[in-house]
Amino acid sequence: MLDILARHGIAAHFFVLGKHLGSDEGRHLVERARDEGHLIGNHSFTHAVPLGEDARPDAVEEEIAATDALLSPLVPPPKRFRPFGGGGRLGPHLLNQRAVDHLIAHGYSCVLWNSVPGDWLDPEGWPEKALADCVTRPHTLLVLHDIPNACLQGLDGFLHKARALGLRFTTACPPDCVPIVDGRVMGDLGGLVATGSH
Ligand SMILES: [Zn+2]
Repeated sequence: MLDILARHGIAAHFFVLGKHLGSDEGRHLVERARDEGHLIGNHSFTHAVPLGEDARPDAVEEEIAATDALLSPLVPPPKRFRPFGGGGRLGPHLLNQRAVDHLIAHGYSCVLWNSVPGDWLDPEGWPEKALADCVTRPHTLLVLHDIPNACLQGLDGFLHKARALGLRFTTACPPDCVPIVDGRVMGDLGGLVATGSH
């Protein structure tokens, strides 16, 4: 992915898992992405149970803070967190109130998305869905995955077609995809936080 993005001169956000930062290979990939102009954020440690459904009282420490402890020595601020939610659904399963409080207290931006073309479900067909999303709204925040059998095989073709359609790439995010900016709540979190959580 880094090779392809470099060839196209495109910078992206990479949201990484803490569990991959324990190895030299994982750290080196993050350092390379950082050095090539990509923005790096926190995507939890284990990516196991969405925070809004995680019953562990210390889930925030185990998922967000533990990842940050490994990530913050590697990448410059500001801190970014992207919650995960199983298939890209937005909803109250994404966050709990303790996570929101933690993100605010530590000055995070919380980055969501508005397009999940399902690269991991359809490694060949996702570019068409992604392009359809990109041409129907002014600013698409597209989620792709650098896991095996996901976006990689379609990425180069997607970028060529996007350019041919006149689309432009930016690391700026649509405001409605970033409900917390540098620790300040900017959007409505109501639909994103599990009720009854603390
Ligand atoms: Zn994820």
